[in-house]
Amino acid sequence: MIKKSSTGQRRSGENKNLPCKDCGQIVYNVDSNAVSTICWRCVNKQLNPNSLIASDLDPEAWKDLVKRKIFKLNGRSENTTAEGEL
Ligand SMILES: [Zn+2]
Repeated sequence: MIKKSSTGQRRSGENKNLPCKDCGQIVYNVDSNAVSTICWRCVNKQLNPNSLIASDLDPEAWKDLVKRKIFKLNGRSENTTAEGEL
């Protein structure tokens, strides 16, 4: 009797992988009902058009960006020794 193994197979009716409709990167664990998806990067970019993705940046550029973002968000700097023009 041949029995198809289900070991290691994805469970049907659950999540699947889809390419991001914006950048084409595979997004994992998308709802199985979804016909298109968008990755967190693109979501983030849509929500914050001015934001940049950390992994897209050089570490130095990222640090610099974070510094500035934090300054802007808080409107003031706490606990920092960065050269400020405040
Ligand atoms: Zn994307």
